[in-house]
Amino acid sequence: MLKKEIRDILEKSKKWGWVLEPDAQKIFSLYGFKTPKYAVATKAAQAVSMARQIGYPVVAKIVSPDVVHKSDVQGVVVGIKDDETLIRTLARLSRIDGFVGMLIAEMAKGIELIVGAKNDFQFGPMILLGMGGVGVEIYKDVSLRMAPLKTRDADHMIQELTARKLLTGYRGSEPINLNALKKTIVTFSHLMMDMQDVVESVDLNPVMCTAKSCIVVDARIMLKK
Ligand code: ADP
Ligand code: MG
Repeated sequence: MLKKEIRDILEKSKKWGWVLEPDAQKIFSLYGFKTPKYAVATKAAQAVSMARQIGYPVVAKIVSPDVVHKSDVQGVVVGIKDDETLIRTLARLSRIDGFVGMLIAEMAKGIELIVGAKNDFQFGPMILLGMGGVGVEIYKDVSLRMAPLKTRDADHMIQELTARKLLTGYRGSEPINLNALKKTIVTFSHLMMDMQDVVESVDLNPVMCTAKSCIVVDARIMLKK
């Protein structure tokens, strides 16, 4: 059974057909995932105080019910290091269609992966794991399984990726924390089971993994009509 706070977010998001990023981040954080520190601002002074509290460098992103793919409208700026750039970014993002605020988030590091799910009418949630960035779109390097998953299933999904070497330490690069990744995949499959009545698809793109941990940096939750 989902926490009431999560059910309330899903309920209020129905009018848009999807869950705005700050709300999606909240759901993932409530369900036990590691997420970046974040805040939402509409005014310059407020943005500055939030960014200083989170600590520069920060990421700024458009929050708008009309913008599902933020980068497509130049709605994401990473590596903002000072107040001036932050204020300039707010001024620009606030002119994008449907602006309701600017999400300011802590900068994460690591290898980018995509963890996704589609709710199949016959099989229920199908969980996808792939390399982030161009990996998914160009190389189609992904593995798929039916939810719910056990740790062993998550392990097999990782082993199926052609690019798995990038995760286990390639040419001197540090291996990522595979246990953290497996836990992320398994927990995600449980969340998808819990939300399957209301959710059409979810994309965590990217999840960023380091030798220490995996953090959900962007979450897109599309709701059933
Ligand atoms: P969208 O997918 O809607 O275009 P994202 O939130 O995924 O927007 O941001 C685009 C890219 O910016 C991500 O793929 C990631 O590379 C980078 N990014 C976003 N948020 C962060 C963050 N908190 N820390 C580091 N990089 C980030
Ligand atoms: Mg994304």
